[in-house]
Amino acid sequence: MSYQPSPTRYQNMPYKHSGKSGLKLPAVSLGLWQNFGYYDRLENCRNILKTAFDNGVTHFDLANNYGPPPGTAEEQFGQILHTDFRDHRDELIISSKAGYTMWDGPYGDWGTKKYLVSSLDQSLKRMKLDYVDIFYHHRPDPETPLEETMAALDLIVRQGKALYVGISNYKAPEAKQAITMLKQMGTPIIIHQPKYSMFERWVEGGLLDVLEEEGIGCIPFSPLAQGLLTDKYLNGIPADSRALKVGDSLTESSITPERVEKAKKLNDLAKQRGQKLAHMALAWVLKDPRITSVLIGASKPEQMLDSLKCLDNTKFSDEELRIIDDILK
Ligand code: NDP
Repeated sequence: MSYQPSPTRYQNMPYKHSGKSGLKLPAVSLGLWQNFGYYDRLENCRNILKTAFDNGVTHFDLANNYGPPPGTAEEQFGQILHTDFRDHRDELIISSKAGYTMWDGPYGDWGTKKYLVSSLDQSLKRMKLDYVDIFYHHRPDPETPLEETMAALDLIVRQGKALYVGISNYKAPEAKQAITMLKQMGTPIIIHQPKYSMFERWVEGGLLDVLEEEGIGCIPFSPLAQGLLTDKYLNGIPADSRALKVGDSLTESSITPERVEKAKKLNDLAKQRGQKLAHMALAWVLKDPRITSVLIGASKPEQMLDSLKCLDNTKFSDEELRIIDDILK
């Protein structure tokens, strides 16, 4: 029998406008950077996606290079989309990106019009889609004029291959320039995707202010620091963890004693709040009204469900915030 999503899926998830745009995103979104490539079991991928959607997670985030190997997350996702989610495409916000190395030669990387347009065409084929909901430039390109990259995003929307556009990993001044250019072209950027977690707070130094002033949404990635801000690594590195998987996104050497020590102290505070560390870490990102959605990863359906519990308490007292700042110093 085909997949019947839970009839109660929209009851508990808050949805928020991305900046001043009309588009609403769920407070928690699911990314397919890891856990959805060729090395991952299709059945597990399918169950993670169903668990997410059954609980109101309507936004799935991809990119041309997700896997590993690059491209395979979009392929696997396309397969599941067309078997299980065929009747629900219009309930989903699917994003993709281009900006990192994808194919050999001078046209398979960075931010030229040639690369962005060809890459999105490839992504659409892999996912068997006519359009994505959001298309991002994945990282700034120091060699291509910003006008060219932004004109490529504008073109892609005018061609109907994406409904909205976003930028990712842009620092505050270059984000402001990009936002201004696309406003003038008539295709406003609606969202920025930066790295932001308790362990990575660079966005607080100006980017969030720019996004607020310009009315742009913010969807932070790796809010759990790839698992370091959960109870996963408090007592060593478990066998089923990203740190021991194929790929180099999280290495054993990045799980330093200092970080584990901080995570242990944060874990104690989370317990006092009646939460797990993962819930507190996500709630901490969501407490800022400038944040539209947190973009999490999950390697199993149980993790997806568990992380959603962050929504039970996203309020922090001044004293709790002070303790967190002290721990993170
Ligand atoms: P997270 O920081 O949420 O890390 C996810 C990992 O944390 C999981 O794979 C799992 O690790 C662990 N985890 C998740 N939930 C729990 C839980 N409840 N309890 C214990 N452990 C848990 O995010 P990601 O780093 O995966 O990034 C999320 C998304 O952000 C990506 O999929 C992608 O869409 C986007 N992204 C964007 C980038 C950009 O440049 N724009 C760059 C990187 C990511 P384990 O696998 O070990 O079980």
